[in-house]
Amino acid sequence: MDDGKLISLAREVLANAYAPYSGYRVGAAILTADGRVFRGVNVENASYGLTICAERAALSAAVAAGYRSFSVIAVAAEGDKEPLPCGACLQVLREFGLLRVVVAGKKEEIRSFNLDELLPYPFGK
Ligand SMILES: [Zn+2]
Repeated sequence: MDDGKLISLAREVLANAYAPYSGYRVGAAILTADGRVFRGVNVENASYGLTICAERAALSAAVAAGYRSFSVIAVAAEGDKEPLPCGACLQVLREFGLLRVVVAGKKEEIRSFNLDELLPYPFGK
């Protein structure tokens, strides 16, 4: 699956994001090593610190279905700026190995990173 298709799948779930506090809706789609896609959105909470990001929501859905190996995660948001994953999400993704991270705002441009570019010194076992 190409990056554009995966970003499209992430954009499809943007409308389901629960972001009444920030108004910043994010969608994510993670591709397993064998080609399945799981999606997530950000889910905010009145207790702000309990908010979960779209990336971790997508990963959690995949892990719950029994997947442990991933090749790419796509993250899409409505703003002009690309939604680079936060440090917490990078660390949680790194737990399952190195994958590519592709991001896109509302423009068509898609940027691609290797996870170790975004998190060069992860916390390890
Ligand atoms: Zn995050």
